[in-house]
Amino acid sequence: MSKRTIRDIDVSNKRVLVRVDFNVPLQDGAVADDARIRAALPTLSYLLDRGAALILCSHLGRPKGVDPALSMDRVATRLGELLGRPIKKAGAVIGPEVQAASDALEPGQILLLENTRFEPGEKRNDPELAAQLAALADAYVNDAFGSAHRAHASTEGAAQAMKARGAPAVAGFLLKRELDYLGNVVADPDHPFVAIIGGAKISGKIDVIESLLDQVDRLLVGGGLANTFLKALGLEVGDSLVEDDKVELASDLMDRGGEKLVLPSDAVIADAFATDANVREVPVADVPSGWRIMDIGLTTVQRFSAALLGAQTVVWNGPMGVFEFPRFAAGTLAVAQLLGQITQAGGRTIVGGGDSASALKQLGLTDAISHISTGGGASLELLAGKTLPAVAALEDKA
Ligand code: ADP
Ligand code: MG
Repeated sequence: MSKRTIRDIDVSNKRVLVRVDFNVPLQDGAVADDARIRAALPTLSYLLDRGAALILCSHLGRPKGVDPALSMDRVATRLGELLGRPIKKAGAVIGPEVQAASDALEPGQILLLENTRFEPGEKRNDPELAAQLAALADAYVNDAFGSAHRAHASTEGAAQAMKARGAPAVAGFLLKRELDYLGNVVADPDHPFVAIIGGAKISGKIDVIESLLDQVDRLLVGGGLANTFLKALGLEVGDSLVEDDKVELASDLMDRGGEKLVLPSDAVIADAFATDANVREVPVADVPSGWRIMDIGLTTVQRFSAALLGAQTVVWNGPMGVFEFPRFAAGTLAVAQLLGQITQAGGRTIVGGGDSASALKQLGLTDAISHISTGGGASLELLAGKTLPAVAALEDKA
């Protein structure tokens, strides 16, 4: 499981191709949030301090072919400001000019390639594109966890191509941290080990739920996906979000989970999916028709709190309610605070999922958690015990 990292290779006077995650939100053509660029700085600074020249690549957005609106130009500007160094921005991902620019790099210099998804071969994992990327450098580093579940030319392909040239392909600090928390801790957790699953839908999380159910001591279910379990119990859930084609699956999971599974017993309900709706708090058996479940209730929070007592490892994915509306954020806030207490008491708390991470940010509780994964889809796949192709392609520690 353990992968070689940048600490295990000599990068002095080497050109290092680093696959970063610079897939940042843009607004009016500027970088709206530079958190992902900042997150890459420890790896980049480490390599620069040891005399490497860097060739950086990332995808940005979902371009269909070359799209000037999704050029890496703004990212180059922001990265230069953050590093306090000039950034050479390539006009393409590969090609003779890019190769020449890479060949001309001196230690300490940085070349940022154009958006990898401008190349049609990126998503196809075209071996030719991967080989041309690998040919730019003497070593490959992957620090883009959020893309690690996809076998693309700049992720899986370039790592394989670099190894084929007899050169190193290793993990950066960000990737290593994700693998340590989501991979190793979850594979060998301290018990009691409790998982909390919420969010909108069961579909997309089935593998995670099944995998966690085998490993955890307790599995707490909240959010919209709890409704399908409630329906499987024969309860009426009014206009709540339900996946009718997953009711049978929910029933199976309850049979398998038995006592491990903890479902909501009460809920905050509303008569419309709106912030100015009428709101009540009722037992889950008493949801009137025309009303819908928007959050877990206070009794459920207390039961979750009891189930979390003494937990040494907690994995949380998916908000407990429609947290985007402050009126329905109380359950998510309460669970976040409980995890904060567990972290303080020395337990390990791990949050995966894009919306869960933004809920914590909205609540100002990002620092209360041991590890918040930067990868949505990748974190779910790792938690489900799957191998991430871009990680598998990196060299194993001897
Ligand atoms: P993550 O990105 O953390 O994996 P999901 O994408 O599965 O989480 O789900 C997040 C969404 O689930 C949020 O937009 C939230 O509003 C929604 N949600 C949570 N509870 C409910 C509910 N009871 N009814 C409808 N939507 C819900
Ligand atoms: Mg989501």
